[in-house]
Amino acid sequence: RQDDLLVLKDKAAVTIDGFKVQLAANIASEQELEKALEVNGDGIGLFRTEFLYMNNDDLKNEERQYNVYRKVLTAMAPKPVVVRALDIGGDKDLPYFDSPDEINPFLGWRGIRILLDRQDIFRSQLRALLRASTCGNLKIIFPMISSLEQLRKTKDLFAGVKSELELAGIAYNPNVETGIMIEVPATAVLAELFAAEVDFFSIGTNDLVQYTLAVDRNNSKIANLYSPYHPAVLKLIDQVARAAKRNGIGVEICGEAAADPLLTPVFLGMGIRVLSMNPGSILEIKRDVRRLKQHNAEEKAARVLEFKTEKEIEDYLKNS
Ligand code: PEP
Ligand code: MG
Repeated sequence: RQDDLLVLKDKAAVTIDGFKVQLAANIASEQELEKALEVNGDGIGLFRTEFLYMNNDDLKNEERQYNVYRKVLTAMAPKPVVVRALDIGGDKDLPYFDSPDEINPFLGWRGIRILLDRQDIFRSQLRALLRASTCGNLKIIFPMISSLEQLRKTKDLFAGVKSELELAGIAYNPNVETGIMIEVPATAVLAELFAAEVDFFSIGTNDLVQYTLAVDRNNSKIANLYSPYHPAVLKLIDQVARAAKRNGIGVEICGEAAADPLLTPVFLGMGIRVLSMNPGSILEIKRDVRRLKQHNAEEKAARVLEFKTEKEIEDYLKNS
């Protein structure tokens, strides 16, 4: 089937009535870049960098990271590559990183919380990224942001790293866009405020579902409660998309839900134009996009937002 879909590789993800969508790839390593190139994805929408740190006990190895970023950016240029700052903690521990035992790791020391406490790690990653930024179209995204204070501290730190490079006469692109993951409900609720202070949003539905519904994303016992079709989740996503639009900033979805064909028309209908997913799903979603009409998608999204229960939404999406 993937073979049949391959004919779509060089076609655009565009609806019947001409609305263009970007279908980007999620990758976690330089190796996975190949898969993104094979299906001709519209850039990298999420480069998870945890893996780069997995087998290496030097948390500050700027040089090694610089080489990986340079390679990925060069291969994708001029398409965008959204690199996420290190998001360890939660379920992703580093074998050599002295992380505490926590009762609730997903509510614990994770993502930006670690980076702001361990600025040595954060700064070296940002230096590596900025140095590589001359090779392509780099965008940087910060994980697990839950307050404006965190965002502002992060931006200050980023500005500091830039001036350091400038003083040292090291070249970088001063216009690299920075965005935040929308994966904590508090941030989705305040999307309007955040939109005024960032270049773009990327909605991480894996965590947004987990935190909105208070359902551990990895607990099979309650897997039936974990659903992106829950009306609270879809309402939040819609609010975030609207806030982005009102403020003229970009918004993409990069969680698993971006690869769910039932949700493709819903997200398009909400005005979301960038979906990032595992490379293996790109051609299938492209086929679906090419069969849709934007105004039908808008009707569908509006309809979905009127339902009161997850079941009604799921049934409607499966039968319409
Ligand atoms: C998400 O939370 O949806 C996401 C894309 O990030 P991760 O799955 O790496 O937590
Ligand atoms: Mg996440």
